[in-house]
Parts: sequence; structure tokens; C-alpha cells
Amino acid sequence: MSATSTPLYEPERFRSPEYLAVIDQQATDALFQIPSHCLSIMREAGEAGYPHEICGLLVGTINNHGWQVHDIKPVANLNEERAADRFQLDPAGYQQIDRELRGTGLEIIGVYHSHPDCPAKPSPTDLGSAWEGFAYPIISICDGLMTDIQCWAVNTSASAFQNIEIKEQTI
Ligand SMILES: [Zn+2]
Repeated sequence: MSATSTPLYEPERFRSPEYLAVIDQQATDALFQIPSHCLSIMREAGEAGYPHEICGLLVGTINNHGWQVHDIKPVANLNEERAADRFQLDPAGYQQIDRELRGTGLEIIGVYHSHPDCPAKPSPTDLGSAWEGFAYPIISICDGLMTDIQCWAVNTSASAFQNIEIKEQTI
């Protein structure tokens, strides 16, 4: 699943200057480490939610190497439109999970969402709502099945997303 693989579906807008400007091609050493069962939860949520866009939170830790996922928390998408480049994570869901994590040593480290029949590439809207320091995995769901997953994080100038290598942990 390399960042350069040809997506099954790629609407024209993903090749527009506006969309291309969202991606910073510079490589980074940061790693997104995630246990297999957490990847499965994201995949199943994306496939079950198709053709709607689903979203949720990543719980874990951040260290010098990048992000370490411990748990996946699906959260309601308040945006009920079909648009594949829009999602609105329920703030109440966020606050509840944030509260539950107090004192556990774990924190919210990112947000995942699906792109129904679209590539696992970020949109200008995704960049507009992205927080520095968070990991943003995007799951491409085509015809109801996951075809790709890519992880993104904003660069140091917060001007674009860099692709983050996903390291699946089979324990
Ligand atoms: Zn998106």
C-alpha cells in the first residue's frame, strides 16, 4: 500500500492543484505503529459505514518515533451528507473519551476517517480541520471494501500533510 499506488477510484478533483497542494512530498522518519486488531476495527467500521463517511479517534501515546496506537474509538459523524471529503466528528464523543483517558497515561493521538469511493489522500477540507501533532489515517473504501489506508500528519509549517509510514504490529 504505497502512497504512489493507483487508487481504484480517483475523482478529478484529487488531481487538481488545490488538492495536490495539500500533500508535502518530503519524506519523514516518523512511524505510525498500530496493532493488527486496531487496523481491523478501522477497516470494519469503514466498510460497515459505506457509502457514508465514518470517523473516530485513535488512543495511544506519542513519542520521538511517532505515534503508537493502543485503541480505536469510533465516534459519530455529525455530517450526514454523502460528500466524501467532509466529516464532522461529534465533539461530545471527543470530550467523553478525553475524560475517560485522564490518569491512564494514554491520550487521543489522532483522528481516522473513511473516503468512500475516493483515494486515501487528504482533501483541502481535511487540512483545514487538522491539528498539529495528530495522526490522520484515511481509509479508502471502494464498492464497500477497504482498498487502501494511508496515514498523514501536518508538516512543521502546518501548510500540508506528509505521508506517515504505517507499521502494523502483529502480536
Ligand atoms: Zn477526508
